[in-house]
Amino acid sequence: MLRSLTGGRDLARIGADETALADDVCDGVFWAWHARVTCRMGDPADPGAVVDPTGSTIKTDGLTVADASVMPRLPSANTNVPTLMIAKKIADDIRAG
Ligand SMILES: Cc1cc2nc3c(=O)[nH]c(=O)nc-3n(C[C@H](O)[C@H](O)[C@H](O)COP(=O)(O)OP(=O)(O)OC[C@H]3O[C@@H](n4cnc5c(N)ncnc54)[C@H](O)[C@@H]3O)c2cc1C
Repeated sequence: MLRSLTGGRDLARIGADETALADDVCDGVFWAWHARVTCRMGDPADPGAVVDPTGSTIKTDGLTVADASVMPRLPSANTNVPTLMIAKKIADDIRAG
């Protein structure tokens, strides 16, 4: 299990050596593309807001956005389930008129 998690690296040795630790961190860093917050939800008076709290675009009539783009700021957790929740809430509101 340990070998599987560490990839066979000697963590005690790496942790005791600043250069080895920095190299190990740099080798292990990766990115993942989780696009969001490009169509920010907020108070219509906020110049940075694109949609109001119902998901309706503030400057364009008849258009509603219901995806990760309306997140008001970057969440620190995974985005898939929050996106489903946003979509469900806005869809329910649309259906309810
Ligand atoms: C590689 C990867 C791994 C991920 N892993 C996780 C994870 O493990 N857990 C987690 O919680 N989240 C994960 N996410 C994030 C999650 O998938 C997204 O946050 C979520 O899918 C966002 O939903 P969305 O509806 O905003 O966008 P999307 O799911 O991207 O949906 C946008 C849709 O619009 C369609 N579209 C685009 N342009 C047009 C057009 N002009 N006309 C018609 N349709 C169009 C696209 O085809 C797509 O179906 C991952 C994302 C990626 C890329």
